Amino acid sequence: MQMPDDYYKVLGVQKGASADEIKKAYRELALKYHPDRNPDKEATERFKEVNEAYAVLSDPEKRRQYDAYGPAGFGQKYSEEEIFRNFDFEQIFKDIGINFGFGSGGQPFGSFFEQGAARQGGEGQSILYRMELPLDEIADGVQKEISVRHVKVCDRCKGSLAEPGTKVIRCPECGGTGRIVTTTNTFFGRMQSVAACRRCGGRGKSYEKRCRKCNGKGGVVDTERIMVTIPAGIYDGARLRLEGMGDYGPDGNGDLYVEIHERKHPVFAREGDNVHAQVRVPFYTAILGGRITVPTLHGEKEIAIEQGTQQGKSIILRGEGIRRLRGSGAGDEIITINIEIPGSLSGEQRELIERFRDREGSQRRKFGFV
Ligand SMILES: [Zn+2]
Ligand SMILES: [Zn+2]
Repeated sequence: MQMPDDYYKVLGVQKGASADEIKKAYRELALKYHPDRNPDKEATERFKEVNEAYAVLSDPEKRRQYDAYGPAGFGQKYSEEEIFRNFDFEQIFKDIGINFGFGSGGQPFGSFFEQGAARQGGEGQSILYRMELPLDEIADGVQKEISVRHVKVCDRCKGSLAEPGTKVIRCPECGGTGRIVTTTNTFFGRMQSVAACRRCGGRGKSYEKRCRKCNGKGGVVDTERIMVTIPAGIYDGARLRLEGMGDYGPDGNGDLYVEIHERKHPVFAREGDNVHAQVRVPFYTAILGGRITVPTLHGEKEIAIEQGTQQGKSIILRGEGIRRLRGSGAGDEIITINIEIPGSLSGEQRELIERFRDREGSQRRKFGFV
């Protein structure tokens, strides 16, 4: 006679461990032994034990009973089925922040094929695509063609899994019910468990001959070119959702998310819909006034510099910023003037400046400033 393991030992926690400690321990072990990550047969066994332990210890009522009756007593009271009742793996993995399949970068299409088309509720994976854009493209919006490698519906069988021209039949594995009932002899007695049929994915249908292009999976990995419209004024880190453009799944496609990353601009610094730029102005233009050419997000522009312009002065170019994502119009460009002082002078230039200084000096003396 076999007794269930000590669940605390399985998770490697103390008997009085808090719910958080138990969750944390489970998370680590689930990541370590999940069959997607660890193909070892022993790991799969450990994964089952860890799940059983967590199913009991994460449920306050079951944990209380387990603490009160001990492993043997608890084993007599609860069947395996009861232990796992209301234990929703998908939700639990979500809660503890494990997301198998949906990675953070690029092409997380693994899961669909790892589990085969037999995955129950076969929805396609969503895909995250990262796009880097320069500020001038963000300023006015742009159309971009991207290449996405993902699972597409098989164009040979159109997702029916059957070789064209052959018949779709009742699944011989489950007899068309879509379910497989397994009976096992355990310490708790004869246990029945029901799972989706792996051969037909719970659909109950099969085929005389499987499609030779997708090998009966319904989807094929392919590179697709997709046109994405980037709206003007989009923010760094924003995600555009292209519904149904992710991986193919028999029960619906996943979505494609395009995440925008703004490339640092050599001239402009963004502040909401406004942009800031530093512009150098020769000292004589600052003193006398004149015209200079400045960069804008839409090309160069000539602007006037007033006579007697001071260092650090701001000039606002209305509407030369980034087009607003919401509402109409555009932000401004704010120019900061930096007066350029020559580092060296020719003899003639020096003479001119000295003459200017001497005049200025004699005037100042006259007014008694010095
Ligand atoms: Zn096919
Ligand atoms: Zn079946």
